Amino acid sequence: MITPDSALFDGGRRLPLVEDFYTIQGEGFHAGKPAYFIRLGGCDVGCRWCDAKYTWNPKLYPPVDVETIIERAAACPAQAIVITGGEPLLYPLGVLTETLRGRGLQLFLETSGTHPFSGVFDWVCLSPKRQQPPLEEAFARADELKVIVESEEDFAWAESNAARVRSGCMLYLQPEWSVAGRVMPAIVEYAKAHPRWNISIQTHKYMHIP
Ligand code: SF4
Repeated sequence: MITPDSALFDGGRRLPLVEDFYTIQGEGFHAGKPAYFIRLGGCDVGCRWCDAKYTWNPKLYPPVDVETIIERAAACPAQAIVITGGEPLLYPLGVLTETLRGRGLQLFLETSGTHPFSGVFDWVCLSPKRQQPPLEEAFARADELKVIVESEEDFAWAESNAARVRSGCMLYLQPEWSVAGRVMPAIVEYAKAHPRWNISIQTHKYMHIP
């Protein structure tokens, strides 16, 4: 296991980059917004349905100088940067995020909340997972709670997480992609009956973009 304070990452001046690319955010509050994605390697949460399993082993992604990542992101017309993974909070994100913000860019984080926070963000999307629940600080930092729903049993899990976020946090139910057709009618009815919840769809999969 590579620890976040590993000398490999030099306090966040190097990070295990999987890929970085310009696309459209497909999910959640910022769905439809052009954004530059920076995907970091490493995740120990182990979701069965994860669509980024290739990111799990950070040893496959040698640390890259953050200046290289920053220059590529800053050269892109995107106004927003999505830091995702894997689980990006495995690493110190201060250097990356503070420098990008200094360039006038908005910083969005996608996280399971299972590791301590670092870095500065304009928007935090917390997606909690049953097998490794978020740290308490993640609930306090979340601007958006995005719960993946595989079955109707997940509504109670969604509510238990919603009870822990601050008021004003946006609430989203998102069907797990492989069962979306089956579970969507129940999600629709649940959101209609509990209208503080919104529905998030993985629209990038319909657009055939990453
Ligand atoms: Fe995949 Fe995210 Fe689950 Fe990690 S937390 S296994 S990256 S879905």
